[in-house]
Amino acid sequence: MKGIIYLKTTVRNVLKLVLPFLFMAAAYYFYKETSTLARAQLDIIELSPYVIFAVGAVISWKFNRSRELFTLVILALALASMEYLPGLTKLSPSFPIAAADIHAIISLMIPLNIGLFSLFKERGILSLWGLLRIGTIFSQVLIASWLLRPEQGGFLSLITKDMLPVSLTSITAVSQLSVSIFLIALILLTTRQVKYKTSQDIAFIAVLCAMFYVLHENQDPMMYVVFFAVSGIVLVTSIIQDSYSMAFTDELTGLPSRRALKQDMMKLGMNYVIAMLDIDHFKKFNDTYGHDTGDEALKLVASVIKDVTGGGKSYRYGGEEFTILFPGRSVQDALPHLEQLREQIAKRPFTLRNRKGRGKSRSRRKTRNSSAGKQIYITVSIGLAQKSEKHKKPDAVMKSADTALYRAKKKGRNCVSR
Ligand code: GH3
Ligand code: MG
Ligand code: MG
Repeated sequence: MKGIIYLKTTVRNVLKLVLPFLFMAAAYYFYKETSTLARAQLDIIELSPYVIFAVGAVISWKFNRSRELFTLVILALALASMEYLPGLTKLSPSFPIAAADIHAIISLMIPLNIGLFSLFKERGILSLWGLLRIGTIFSQVLIASWLLRPEQGGFLSLITKDMLPVSLTSITAVSQLSVSIFLIALILLTTRQVKYKTSQDIAFIAVLCAMFYVLHENQDPMMYVVFFAVSGIVLVTSIIQDSYSMAFTDELTGLPSRRALKQDMMKLGMNYVIAMLDIDHFKKFNDTYGHDTGDEALKLVASVIKDVTGGGKSYRYGGEEFTILFPGRSVQDALPHLEQLREQIAKRPFTLRNRKGRGKSRSRRKTRNSSAGKQIYITVSIGLAQKSEKHKKPDAVMKSADTALYRAKKKGRNCVSR
């Protein structure tokens, strides 16, 4: 049972890592197929990135994800200028725009912006910070259009100038400066991903790789269209993935949340045990050591509960209460594992850390600081119940476990009751 749960989480984690790259591989195959399509179909495909960017922008807005929103804006601007700006030359011959110049500028701006956005914390879209970033994007547009003026040819050649003594133009269409910015952005994103382990950074890594690939190839406009569209899809998918895991994970302890519990309770079969676990005298603990220390203690208890044996799965029910489900088990099966869990928690010392100036009153702060480094022990009481003739529904079993928990408290706490 534990093995299956472990396997499931591993598969889920691996999938989370590779999904954006699978999207990009699909983009590659789809692009190969476009050569067989009719003009009318290609026309629709050419529009698709803009539709995806617009939908993506609305979704990022709703989820308050400025990093995705601004990246989508950059991608839309980049794609549109590559597709339509060279065509404008016909309209105004006095201001010719070379596709190669646009390519040179975009090869810098895309990795530069993706890299820069990864450095900042999420600070909202219409906040001062958000507006500052919108301003940065538009100043880039102004700088780019200034660079594209015929008299600025000198500046442009500076961008594409080789930094190394060797020329790489036979290998890649991207300038050496651009390759370096791509590399820096990749390092920044990888560091973030290792640190925070969100779907967000993996998505950005995949988008960065895809952007490098198309700019490096710089062949077919259709290739740009397909990879830009799929990049938009990858960014939106990561928003949805992250919100999904946020909804089902408790932020403080990292345990599955009550919402996950409610879902898993619906999947319980013929036999199962539900255990309710509550920290003893936790109100007093908070009053004595402060709410922040209380949170640390909650995390410690959760880390022990997470590794419950005997096929159990743990959830944070709410506050200082936890629930453990034992699918397919009886009270006799679960009891020794819960007894072991209770003992593990009671034996695990919690070391108080020095907290500065957080307390409400001076005297409280003094108690806290003087007790820094001291070890305290936390105990829990557990009540459990199994599915029976009397309690047929998960909700009824849970209520019965709660009553058992109340008995454990009455018995003097730090014990398991059925
Ligand atoms: P008992 O042994 O009877 O369970 O006593 P108790 O004080 O633990 O019981 P009670 O349910 O009255 O108190 C629960 C306290 O848990 C209240 C609140 O201060 C604390 N608490 C609930 N959620 C959190 C949380 O997320 N963080 C912290 N630090 N404290 C919490
Ligand atoms: Mg309680
Ligand atoms: Mg309690």
